[in-house]
Amino acid sequence: MTDVLAVTEHRRGDVRDVSYEIATAARQLADETGGDVHLAVIGGDVDTVADQVNREGVDAIHTVDEGEEFNHDIYTQAVEQLYAELDPQFLLAPNSVNGMDYVPASAEGLDLPLVTDAVDLEYNGNLTVTREQYGGKVETTIDVAEDNAVVTIRPAEWAQAEGAGDADVQAFDADIDESQIKTAITGYEEVASGDVDISEAEFLVSIGRGIEEEENLQLIEALVEATDATLSSSRPIVDSGWLPKNRQVGQSGKVVTPDVYIAIGISGAVQHVAGMKGAETIIAINTDPNAPIMDIADYAIVDDLFDVVPPLIEEFGGT
Ligand code: FAD
Repeated sequence: MTDVLAVTEHRRGDVRDVSYEIATAARQLADETGGDVHLAVIGGDVDTVADQVNREGVDAIHTVDEGEEFNHDIYTQAVEQLYAELDPQFLLAPNSVNGMDYVPASAEGLDLPLVTDAVDLEYNGNLTVTREQYGGKVETTIDVAEDNAVVTIRPAEWAQAEGAGDADVQAFDADIDESQIKTAITGYEEVASGDVDISEAEFLVSIGRGIEEEENLQLIEALVEATDATLSSSRPIVDSGWLPKNRQVGQSGKVVTPDVYIAIGISGAVQHVAGMKGAETIIAINTDPNAPIMDIADYAIVDDLFDVVPPLIEEFGGT
């Protein structure tokens, strides 16, 4: 009754980073409630996924060997049944495309209150959930009056659980009602730019409106190649059609957590920062020393990008 059950996420065989983050969030919350951390692994190669998410701080892992990929109906039923079986206090799930799909249905089925997109959780006899609004300009705290609740957590807000764990891995025999499976994934379509997922990249070179013209992208692409980085951008670059949508960092783009993020000609608007503030090291190249990006940059080069980037390319052996 004081335990925390957290649902992990995987896609096409890969464990999503948010699975390790949710393990940390669950551990922190369970330390405050005085309970255990249970992880749920649903679908796919459950044993391999369970092995990977078995990290420090996790007490038990429950595998539900149903379906290959995410399925709304299987997840909804499996989560409800696991919750009924384990009787935890709180249910956590990622605030991801998948999470936003099945979690409201599970919360409704369990007749529990749902708070979405948490960036912080605190339990002090009652659960307080912190959310961000208006691209991070406003923080809201929600006091949950009920003893039990479902919360989705924003990816990249918690550190990833590390270190090998010794959780007890148990197969949970969910009683899935096949007649209620109304949806199925029939295939995947790659987006036009290939399968680049900037949210998984460790080194991002990101470009903004400072680049001025589409043809100047060539310069940045040379830097990307020389440094073996991945290219991303602010929204105006995508809105101009210079890069595809899956390269956009920010509130209406992707949340990224690379080791290094080089922001070139990006002002650091709050909607952009919402997507990259979790980067380990932020380097800004900008002519404006007062640009907001400077407030969060670890290193800054206050200069014209067209003067800075060519010697950088040369330094890294590019042309
Ligand atoms: P600008 O703000 O125009 O900044 C360009 C920067 O380049 C300036 O700081 C300038 O000093 C610098 N510069 C210019 N020339 C040079 C040079 N030669 N050398 C070096 N530096 C130079 N934006 C996002 O990025 N992602 C989002 O997901 C997103 N979602 C949004 C959602 C909503 C609902 C709204 C309203 C807005 C959203 N935006 C988003 C837009 C956001 O508000 C900003 O407009 C945008 O981030 C600005 O992009 P930028 O930094 O590339 O351009």
